[in-house]
Amino acid sequence: MTTTEQAFRGEVQAFLAEQLTPDLRAAGRATVGTHSDIGASRLWHRRLYERGWIAPAWPAEHGGTGWSARQRLIFDRECALNDAPVLFAGGLRNVGPLLIAMGTAEQRARYLPRILSGEDLWCQGYSETAAGSDLAALRTGSHLDGDHYLVNGRKIWTTGADLATHMFALVRTSSSGKPQQGITFLLIDMQAPGIRIRPVGTISGEAEFNEVTFDNVPVPVADRIGAENEGWSVAKTLMYYARSSNTTCGLLRRAFRRTEELLDRIDGEVPLATTRLLHDAELRLSALERLEYESAGREAGGEMEFHASTMKILATELHQRITEIALDLAGYSAFEQRDADNATASSLFAHASAKYFATRAASIYSGTNEIHRNILAKHLLGAR
Ligand SMILES: Cc1cc2nc3c(=O)[nH]c(=O)nc-3n(C[C@H](O)[C@H](O)[C@H](O)COP(=O)(O)OP(=O)(O)OC[C@H]3O[C@@H](n4cnc5c(N)ncnc54)[C@H](O)[C@@H]3O)c2cc1C
Repeated sequence: MTTTEQAFRGEVQAFLAEQLTPDLRAAGRATVGTHSDIGASRLWHRRLYERGWIAPAWPAEHGGTGWSARQRLIFDRECALNDAPVLFAGGLRNVGPLLIAMGTAEQRARYLPRILSGEDLWCQGYSETAAGSDLAALRTGSHLDGDHYLVNGRKIWTTGADLATHMFALVRTSSSGKPQQGITFLLIDMQAPGIRIRPVGTISGEAEFNEVTFDNVPVPVADRIGAENEGWSVAKTLMYYARSSNTTCGLLRRAFRRTEELLDRIDGEVPLATTRLLHDAELRLSALERLEYESAGREAGGEMEFHASTMKILATELHQRITEIALDLAGYSAFEQRDADNATASSLFAHASAKYFATRAASIYSGTNEIHRNILAKHLLGAR
């Protein structure tokens, strides 16, 4: 780090020391799924907003920090090392940058301030039961009725639909031509009439998922991003932001720290195989951090899409590996203390197993790792 970067890190550390209360840190540590407890997440959002640090990746003229990419990584890492809550960040990470890149002046004026302040929370309405990896097969339809679209159909696996005030969604507006050509990108108010949300449980015990049905849901034409039937290219732009920010090294560092803490609790000898796995994970994490650091700040484009897919695969696989080791260690710890009052060991084991299950999903969301390997293969081999 340069001297300026070290000074910046000191400023971040001082802020975190002052603002992260024990409750907020506890919520950060207890995180299982894609965000911390929503109350803690909102409170932490508010504190960052008041400090002007809520949108590190946005340009300063839109309310971002104006930090360099390396400053953003320093900030992310410090938040991880200090157990800051993980934000519910679909607006900040996905639709906000998209609006800045492709939205109209009116859309930006309307939505960006409310994303920054945390008043609006956004979920993503892409997947359907028969449209996941093959997203262009989506069927939730929409047709124009005066100055509104009317949306009908069903989305599934919608993380946080029950918490969100808005959804960014892909809908079918034409069936002619290639499937990708008839898709439109809409911003949907979750309070609009005709929306029904049903929770879908997951194996980790979290209730983050939902099924969302639409029955003649009106969406103003002004809430369309890009032209009608050209939503596919809008979605591709947004997926780039999502994939590059989903599993960051900060998130991995958090998981690794939890694993080290579990190791510290074990009195007896830890099997060599587990210790080796732990060291291997640490080396991989250091290498990934280096990769993230060196590529920080490069612009979107062919090379960066390749990089985003590479990072997505490496980071999610490592996340899964770390949580596997944590589960083993939590198991040893609980076993060692089987005759003692083992409430702590049991709760650590419960957390480790929930985390283990939750990270199985990491190689599925934001494009499965097989799909990312296809992207890499096309890039490397030029295969059609
Ligand atoms: C935790 C979590 C949160 C999610 N949140 C959201 C959300 O908020 N909003 C949203 O819209 N969606 C969300 N999703 C859905 C996610 O985007 C889809 O699950 C994902 O795109 C895969 O689609 P699918 O589940 O239909 O699986 P499928 O596409 O049916 O894939 C099944 C298997 O086949 C493999 N496969 C498919 N096609 C190919 C191919 N061409 N080459 C090689 N292998 C292939 C896949 O890799 C996978 O292993 C979430 C998913 C998870 C797990």
